[in-house]
Amino acid sequence: MSQSNSDNWGQCLRCKWWQIEPDAAIEHQTTGLCIDEQLLPFRIRITGNGGCNRFMEGEPARAAGSSERPPVAEATR
Ligand code: SF4
Repeated sequence: MSQSNSDNWGQCLRCKWWQIEPDAAIEHQTTGLCIDEQLLPFRIRITGNGGCNRFMEGEPARAAGSSERPPVAEATR
C-alpha cells in the first residue's frame, strides 16, 4: 500500500459514505451500507469498525434497509 493510500484510510463510523438505519447507534458493531460512488455497486455491508482509503470524514447518512442482507436502501447522498 502506498503512503498516500494509508493517509486517507479511516473508519466507517466517522465516514460520510457510511449509511445506517434511521435509529441505529453509531458504534463499532453497527452494520451499514457503503454509499461511496465507486463502492456502491458492490452493495458492501460493513460495520462501524470497518474502513478503507475512500474514507471521507463526516456524519453517517441514514436510511431504512441499510443494514439488511443485502442492503435494500437507496443511497441518500
Ligand atoms: S468502506 Fe470506506 S468509503 Fe465506505 S463507509 Fe467505510 S470508510 Fe467510508
